[in-house]
Amino acid sequence: MERVREALEGEGLDALLVTGEANRVYLSGFDGSLGYLLLGREGRGMLLTDFRYLEQAKKQSPHLETVTLKKGPGEIAAEAAREMGWRRLGFEEEHLSHGRYRKLAENFPGELVPVQKLVERARAVKESFELSCIRSAASFLDRAFSELLPGLLQEGVKENEVALELEYYLRKKGAGLPTFRFIVASGERGAMPHGMASEKKLQKGEMVTLDFGVYYRGYASDMTRTVALGEPGEQMREVYRVVCSAQQEALQGIKSGMKGSEADALARRIIDEAGYGDYFGHGLGHGVGLEAHELPQLSPRGEDTLEQGMVATVEPGIYLPSLGGVRIEDMVLVTGEGVELITRSSRELVIL
Ligand code: ZN
Ligand code: ZN
Repeated sequence: MERVREALEGEGLDALLVTGEANRVYLSGFDGSLGYLLLGREGRGMLLTDFRYLEQAKKQSPHLETVTLKKGPGEIAAEAAREMGWRRLGFEEEHLSHGRYRKLAENFPGELVPVQKLVERARAVKESFELSCIRSAASFLDRAFSELLPGLLQEGVKENEVALELEYYLRKKGAGLPTFRFIVASGERGAMPHGMASEKKLQKGEMVTLDFGVYYRGYASDMTRTVALGEPGEQMREVYRVVCSAQQEALQGIKSGMKGSEADALARRIIDEAGYGDYFGHGLGHGVGLEAHELPQLSPRGEDTLEQGMVATVEPGIYLPSLGGVRIEDMVLVTGEGVELITRSSRELVIL
């Protein structure tokens, strides 16, 4: 809240209406399905929710005034503005529907100022409590990779079964919900970077890309490994080597102070030089926290400067149409010296 209030000062805003769900959870601790936060630059912070969540909101956000949504957030903001003398109210342009905006504009007497990623930028640098949740969320993935997957990945097993068993295992061990639909992409399907698990059966000689993650105490994790079921052949072995060394280059070179685009370029250069540049069509990575995809953005368009305490993925990949694909993804913490791995699973090519 302090960091966000400083940013409000910088933008010359009297208050901010937070409608982005993860942003509201971040600032309030309240994780019910409906809630808005009205945060004054000084003093007043109001959590707006409805009757269903009043008790929970009071418990989770003792530092905020809890207000029942008997009227719309626009009317409540207008009342607070009259009491507090707020004139410039920021709103999150990516998290406010046009309909809600219109209601707000009808009721709010002062100036409405759109803001972009204001809370998201504060969220990118993690507190130690957040880091410990993220590390726990990641540790489930490492455990599943070493304990469950070698036995599970067998010829004839459907991708959907792999995804289901994986989710069952993770949740049985105490993890929360999956952070996204797991990707299990075998053989040719590996050429689809986001090939959701399907009814296809795993076959000998195929590479299998597994991209999975779970929440733990509200925080996400995200990891990808590509393994071979039997001998994958010379070309896919080479693709694996290139992806692995591109990732290695990024892991060794990423530093705080660097832009997201510079981090991306470290890995991209290796893949370009190997002749596969056209087949690495996505960014190198993304931040992970309350959401599985958040700031910073590590991509050719990544403007964010990496700072100590940020958590991001490093996930180069090569996708060859009608042949297959390889991606290797790890989560890292940006430290003073470089990066520290959060996911720990081996990155050597595993042939089952
Ligand atoms: Zn992933
Ligand atoms: Zn990812």
